[in-house]
Amino acid sequence: MTQVESKPTTNDTPFVPIEKIVALCKRRGFVYPNSEIYGGVSGIYDFGPLGVELRNNIRRYWWWSMVQLHDNIVGIEGAIITHPRVWEASGHVENFVDRLVDCKNCKRRFRIDHLPEENVIQNKCPECGGELMEPRTFNLLMETYLGVVEGERMQTYLRGEACQNIYLDFDNVVKSSRVQIPFGICQIGKAFRNEVTPGNFLFRQREFEQWDLQFFVHPSEMLQWFDYWKEKRFEWYMGLINHKDRLHFREHGPDELAHYAKQAFDIEYKTILGWQEWEGIHWRQDWDLSRHSEYSGQDLSYTDQNTKERYIPWIVETSGGVDRTFLNLLLDAYEEEPDPTGKEPRTVLRLHPALAPVKVAVLPLQKNKEELVTTAKNIHKKLQRLMVSQYDDVANIGRRYRRQDEIGTPYCVTIDFQTLEDRTVTVRERDHMTQVRVNIDELPAYLLERVTWQ
Ligand code: ATP
Repeated sequence: MTQVESKPTTNDTPFVPIEKIVALCKRRGFVYPNSEIYGGVSGIYDFGPLGVELRNNIRRYWWWSMVQLHDNIVGIEGAIITHPRVWEASGHVENFVDRLVDCKNCKRRFRIDHLPEENVIQNKCPECGGELMEPRTFNLLMETYLGVVEGERMQTYLRGEACQNIYLDFDNVVKSSRVQIPFGICQIGKAFRNEVTPGNFLFRQREFEQWDLQFFVHPSEMLQWFDYWKEKRFEWYMGLINHKDRLHFREHGPDELAHYAKQAFDIEYKTILGWQEWEGIHWRQDWDLSRHSEYSGQDLSYTDQNTKERYIPWIVETSGGVDRTFLNLLLDAYEEEPDPTGKEPRTVLRLHPALAPVKVAVLPLQKNKEELVTTAKNIHKKLQRLMVSQYDDVANIGRRYRRQDEIGTPYCVTIDFQTLEDRTVTVRERDHMTQVRVNIDELPAYLLERVTWQ
């Protein structure tokens, strides 16, 4: 897919406040607070008509580039509920905890690992300077129950991370498809965490969606594949953002590394919240398959067809979030620029055209001229079969362009009086507001080339 053009940023380029994105999302139907009429639920959101389009495009593009384009990668879709022993084997029952403190004075709550060191040492609230209470430990797994009869119900969990299904299905995938090491299994799926400090809109939620690649390798090839996927995933995010200087790697320090990990990197993106994790690249070694072999009693080792060597494969994991991608892309794309005609500023979402929720808007110049309206509706009906198209004849053409700019529609097609004479339409591009005349018969190909990934 073509890269988004770089938008050079300087130290003075302001970061977009999260509130602007929250307001846009609500106003234009991207994201709504869940159960809003009952007062909402902290850390849980619903996606509206435009949000679901954007989200689907983001998911599909990940799947296309990770699964469809790789002969040695397959996909699965695992269930949200698994056997409870899975979470013992994975270590989540014992270790999936956050330690948090409350401020005695302002009652704010903080994760200890997110507090500046001096506040931890001085036991002082970073917001009001008040005294902090004794730290408490919380497990993040969400419990649920299977069965109807009290006393016979089995307690289990909504999955705390999506990737466990991949380890559980590893042996089935090897036996039922023709994959051979090195190969990968991908999945996109919901995860649930009782986050103690949900917030910052979609950034930290209690129900969210992850995308994972678990890439299985021979131990002798671990380093080369780790480097390969680290670079590949970085390039993938880089291709989607305007502010190229706001993406970097952060290497995990020795105190953050799991005991089996030789190295780990976060791909981080800088927003008004500072540098924050977008995706993690993890060296998981043989930890997951060994633990599930041990806890289930099933041997999850792999036999090389050629050498007959039998071993537990090592794993490179790339694990990112659909919702964080959604939020980061909106923060990256949002811009308010002065109106060249001196009226209100223009709000524009510079989303990659292939991800934009609406690809084209079809606009008759005037709604009281029947011929213009009929031609425009016919064009819209044709385009609708190929891409998400919107027909709009309400308000003057300038306002209609603005409405589309604000939701990131890359192209607007205007049907005017010249159209009736020579069958050409005006195609107006979102970012530079340039306009070209295109013949109606060539319009589908013209747009498809620009709004699909290939
Ligand atoms: P953090 O340190 O921010 O809590 P994490 O290291 O626990 O994240 P992982 O368990 O590695 O995150 O999850 C992989 C990805 O899932 C993250 O990179 C992020 O994009 C996404 N993610 C994790 N927790 C949340 C959440 N509560 N809400 C939204 N997305 C999340």
